[in-house]
Amino acid sequence: MNVILFGPPGAGKGTQGDLLAKSAELRKISTGDLLREAVRDGTPLGQEAKRYMDAGELVPDQVILGLIKETLAETGGQKGFSLDGFPRTLPQARALDVMLAEMKRPISAVAMLDVNDESIVKRLGGRWSCQQCGAVYNQFSDPPKKTGICDKCGYGLVQRKDDEPGTVQRRLDVYRQQTAPVLEYYRKGVTPVHTISGDRPIEEVQFDLRRMLGL
Ligand code: AMP
Repeated sequence: MNVILFGPPGAGKGTQGDLLAKSAELRKISTGDLLREAVRDGTPLGQEAKRYMDAGELVPDQVILGLIKETLAETGGQKGFSLDGFPRTLPQARALDVMLAEMKRPISAVAMLDVNDESIVKRLGGRWSCQQCGAVYNQFSDPPKKTGICDKCGYGLVQRKDDEPGTVQRRLDVYRQQTAPVLEYYRKGVTPVHTISGDRPIEEVQFDLRRMLGL
């Protein structure tokens, strides 16, 4: 089972991907997480990606495709994967089709998490992540036990630079212009596309997602 978690920034793709990883052993592949790891490690790729990320712009397709190819190659013995934040452009979607055809691991379904702009701005404003392990919390819907401290590793929580209001607006524009057409691409193809309302408690969204995937 290989699923694409689709939706605007802040729709809950990462949270739902984490839950699917726990309950269904689907490996979560998040290009945003992979990039943030590269930034933290100070690799040349991370240094190049950072300026795009901080500005709310997309990292060039070639960079992302190199990263995803490496990661998909590691999924051989696994039950399947969920993709969070990829593909985000039409060239990425087409390249993914070619890679997965070669691997004989087609996408089983696309799940579109639908959330309105007002909720997105509020959610991203309340998002805190761990500088050490990358765990994500939300002060409104999923707060850490101790304010400002990661439940998992005890490190301090920080807000992402790209979650600042001005950058969030840019990310929403980029989503509409460059990423939304990817959904139309899938709608025209053979992979089932399901829309789930993401404006609900995490558990309810997960319940619907699992039901939709037949899990
Ligand atoms: P995310 O955590 O998915 O919101 O991604 C954070 C940032 O990483 C995005 O705003 C982009 O700058 C970059 N990024 C993540 N995934 C991609 C992708 N598939 N294509 C281009 N840029 C990406």
